[in-house]
Amino acid sequence: MYTDTLLHIDGTWRPGTSGRTIPVEDPGTGEQIGTVAHADTADLDEALAAAERGFLVWKNTSAHERYLLMKRAAGLFRERADRVAHRLTLEQGKPLAEALGEVNLGADLIDWFAEEARRTYGRVIPSRAAGVESFVLREPVGPVAAFTPWNFPINQVVRKLSGAVATGCSIIVKAPEETPASPADLIAAFVDAGLPPGVAQLVFGVPADVSSYLIPHPTIKKITFTGSTPVGKQLAALAGLHMKRATMELGGHAPAVVFADADVPRAAKLLAAFKFRNAGQVCTSPTRMLVERPALSTFVDGFVAYAHKLQVGHGLDPATRMGPLANARRLAAMEFLVADACDRGATLLCGGKRIGTAGHFFAPTVLVNVPPGARILHEEPFGPIVPIAAFDTLEEVVAESNRLPYGLAAYAYTSSLRTAQTWGAAVESGMVSINHHGLALPELPFGGIKDSGHGNEGGTEGLDGYLNTKLITRAAL
Ligand code: NAD
Repeated sequence: MYTDTLLHIDGTWRPGTSGRTIPVEDPGTGEQIGTVAHADTADLDEALAAAERGFLVWKNTSAHERYLLMKRAAGLFRERADRVAHRLTLEQGKPLAEALGEVNLGADLIDWFAEEARRTYGRVIPSRAAGVESFVLREPVGPVAAFTPWNFPINQVVRKLSGAVATGCSIIVKAPEETPASPADLIAAFVDAGLPPGVAQLVFGVPADVSSYLIPHPTIKKITFTGSTPVGKQLAALAGLHMKRATMELGGHAPAVVFADADVPRAAKLLAAFKFRNAGQVCTSPTRMLVERPALSTFVDGFVAYAHKLQVGHGLDPATRMGPLANARRLAAMEFLVADACDRGATLLCGGKRIGTAGHFFAPTVLVNVPPGARILHEEPFGPIVPIAAFDTLEEVVAESNRLPYGLAAYAYTSSLRTAQTWGAAVESGMVSINHHGLALPELPFGGIKDSGHGNEGGTEGLDGYLNTKLITRAAL
């Protein structure tokens, strides 16, 4: 079922010119399951030349034809969903049902962007003088370089790929070396649907080598990156140095505020389910539980009960509700964050340690009484660890919600419309979800502010990053 992954350059699937490969492991066993081809500079040069040619073809292809191709790609990807989900689980670890959800949402995203492709309207501006027409066109920005992480191997690529393809851009995707097969399946759906050679290339390699080569290259006109804030800042700085447009989807540390007037047991259950989804390796994960003091014990009891009964195991086991962490780095990071909090006096209510020695399993972990200096209160955990704290006033919880430089997602549960409005207006976040967990659907804008980045990868805003604005003003002679 799991096969080695090749590069895709200029319409051809092939190994790297050097023949080098990178091993791929199953995080549920720690064993190698395959390899991925490694692109060297010669391969990147070919990818760049192909993207240049592909752009010339694709920007002159009508929006209607782009739409038709993308609908075919979405259909093929849906038809292949079971096989792709299986490979995604093997390389990334998430439970099969979550992987299947990611594949199907990926197909929905292609559909959404396909339909938006037909609606990249410009506008006409009323003129000051008779005989003058001024109008605004929206044109594809050019060849794009995209860098995506391993937590959602398909969903992080599909937003970028679909945005580029919908608008008439070409793209070079540097997908994650740890989870290469499922992004390759996504590209294959586009290729098999008839995407012309050169429009989409797929490469793998040493991330810093690839980005430092592609970003300054004159062929590349736009950068899009999803990953951590420190890396995003480096890539945004490089893009700025070379005057390249950039979309940055970076880290978060989302406050989840539960007011005492909420349905507290329901909030505990929903927040726990979303906190432990993909073993907490989600940039919009609710990671700082802030509970109004009278509701604290009910909330903690409900949350911990959920964590206790969560079945942790290999993603292909149908009983599994939470899989392993995607790599050994996350395991080490979890051990460090728990030890740091406990050394400073935090109380561990459940979990706190690795499960077994094969694979990268870590127990769902809940901490209370976490002192202000603990690293978990400042750093994105990106794993199944959560601190829960009490608050007493709305002013206090607004300040705590906005305390960190992140601004990606924020959640609240309350039965008061006034509280929902006041907190919703005050919270500094690109996305705010109140009384349900409603982010990341294709039709909704997806993006952060502050250190969480800039630009959007969904909704009608999703195409903006791939389009230049061109003014034409002309007078009749
Ligand atoms: P990392 O910061 O080294 O890498 C994050 C991602 O960026 C990876 O996909 C990596 O391949 C890529 N990357 C790293 N350096 C790069 C470079 N110079 N050029 C291009 N791409 C580069 O960390 P990691 O150990 O892989 O992940 C841990 C942290 O990354 C997490 O704590 C989390 O904050 C963040 N992360 C965020 C997301 C997200 O969805 N926003 C996804 C994955 C990881």
